[in-house]
Amino acid sequence: MAVDFIYPEFEVIRNEDRCIACRACERQCANEVHFFSTEREKMMSDESKCVNCQRCVSLCPTRALKIVKSDCTLRENANWQNETIREVYKQAASGGVLLSSMGNPKPMPVYWDKILINASQVTNPPIDPLREPMETKVFLGKKPDKIRRDENGNIICDLPPQVELSMPIMFSAMSYGSISYNAHCSLARAATELGIVYNTGEGGLHEDFYKYGKNTIVQVASGRFGVHEVYLEAGAAIEIKMGQGAKPGIGGHLPGTKIVDDVSRTRMIPEGSDAISPAPHHDIYSIEDLRQLVYSLKEATEYKKPIIVKVAAVHNIAAIASGIARSGADIIAIDGFRGGTGAAPTRIRDNVGIPIELALASVDRRLRDEGIRNNVSLVVGGSVRSASDVVKAIALGADACYIATAALLALGCHLCRTCQTGKCNWGIATQRPDLVKRLNPDMGSERLVNLMTAWRHEIMEIMGAMGINSIEALRGNRLMLRGVGLNEKELEILGIAHAGE
Ligand code: SF4
Ligand code: SF4
Repeated sequence: MAVDFIYPEFEVIRNEDRCIACRACERQCANEVHFFSTEREKMMSDESKCVNCQRCVSLCPTRALKIVKSDCTLRENANWQNETIREVYKQAASGGVLLSSMGNPKPMPVYWDKILINASQVTNPPIDPLREPMETKVFLGKKPDKIRRDENGNIICDLPPQVELSMPIMFSAMSYGSISYNAHCSLARAATELGIVYNTGEGGLHEDFYKYGKNTIVQVASGRFGVHEVYLEAGAAIEIKMGQGAKPGIGGHLPGTKIVDDVSRTRMIPEGSDAISPAPHHDIYSIEDLRQLVYSLKEATEYKKPIIVKVAAVHNIAAIASGIARSGADIIAIDGFRGGTGAAPTRIRDNVGIPIELALASVDRRLRDEGIRNNVSLVVGGSVRSASDVVKAIALGADACYIATAALLALGCHLCRTCQTGKCNWGIATQRPDLVKRLNPDMGSERLVNLMTAWRHEIMEIMGAMGINSIEALRGNRLMLRGVGLNEKELEILGIAHAGE
C-alpha cells in the first residue's frame, strides 16, 4: 500500500536556551505550527504545516527561532528530482490539480541578468543627476508621428488622453479579494504620493478608494466583477485584461472563503460564492471583437480615458500586439511568464508563456517595422525586480514597467508562495480580519514610497552614467545594451550586440 507521508519541507529549529515560552510564535502563525505542550512544559512545533513565511522568526522577542530547509532528501536523481517526486505523491494523495502562487520559480533564463548597460567615457560625458536636470516623467498613450503647427507656428497639441507618470513605473494589477484592504490602501496611497498609478485588478474598486481615482487603473476582466459606469469613470485609464503572465490562457478563481462582506459588495457577487473568471471574455473571439470592447469603453467614458489591453507574453506575441495596436487600444501591457499571481495551477505557471525580455524586444521591433509604434505605449511586467531591470526594459523598447512582487516585498511579503491559502501571516494575501490588521497602511505606503524613490534615484544615476537625461531618449535605445553569454538567436531577438562588439 502506498504511503502518503512526505517529510516536511522545512524544519523549525527552536533554541531551548533562548525560548521563554511567551507563545508569541503561536499567536503569530496562522498555520498553527507552534503550540505549548503542558505535558512536556515547552513549546513544540508541527513542522508539516510550516510554509516558511518567517513571521514567527521575525517576531520572536528572544530570537529563539530559525526555519531551515530540510536536508532530508528523497532518493532523487537528475531526472526525478525531489520536487517532482513530492508533487507526484501529493497528487496521488489528493487527486487534484496542484495550485501555487507568486511567479515561476524554475531556473529559466533571466535575460535581464545577461544584459549589460553602457556608460559614457571621454567624448560623451556622463551627466550628474544631482546637479543637472533629468526627466523621468512619462506619458502613456497614442502619440502623433510628427509635430504639427497651426498657421501662426504654434504647436497643435490635441493629444488623445494620456496617463502621466512621474517615473516609468506602475503598480501592477492585484485585486481586492486576492490581497487585503490594507494592502490596497497602501498601494493607492503610495501611488498618489508618488504621482504614479496602481491597478484594481479584476476585483472592482472599494468605495473608500474612489478618492485615489486619478492614480488608479480600473480593470475590466473576463468576470466583469465590480464593473459599472461610475467605476469606469473613476480611473485614470481602463485596462482590459485578456491574459496574465503567470497563467496565460486560463481564467481566475478566488475561493468563496475570500469573498467576505465588502469584497462581495465590491465585486457585486454574493458573499461566500467562488469568484470564477472565465478563460476568454465571452464577447471576444477576434481582434474585431476586442475593438468593439475598446470602443464601447471609450464611448462609455466619452473618449476621456486611455484604454490598456493586457496580454500574457506567449509565442506569437508580436503578431498579437500588432492586432491590439490596430484595435484602437492606447496602451499594450505585456506580462511575462515569471509574473506573480495570488493563485495559479502550478503546471501552467511553470510551463506556459515566454520571458518578458524576448516578448518586449520582438513586439517593439514589429510595431516599428509596421510603422505603428507611436499608436500605442508599451508597458511590461513579469519579474521586473530592480531599477536596472527598469532601465534595461526601457532601452529594449518599453515606455514603462509594471511591478507587483517587488511592491509586495516592500509591504512585508516573504515569498512563502502560499497566497492561495488565504492565511498570509503578513496581512497581504488574506481577508482574515486578525491577519489584515497586521499590515499598517501608513507603514505600507511609506515603504512603497521609499522603494520607488530609491529606484527613481538609481534610474537617474544609470541614465546619467550613460549620458542620457530623459526616459524619452532612453526608450528603444538598444545601442546602450550589450549581451553576455547569449547565443546568436537570442541576441538577434533582443536586437542587441554581444559585449565586446
Ligand atoms: S508558517 Fe510562518 S509563522 Fe508559522 S512556523 Fe512557519 S515560518 Fe513560522
Ligand atoms: S503575499 Fe503573503 S502568502 Fe503570499 S507569498 Fe507573500 S507572505 Fe506568502
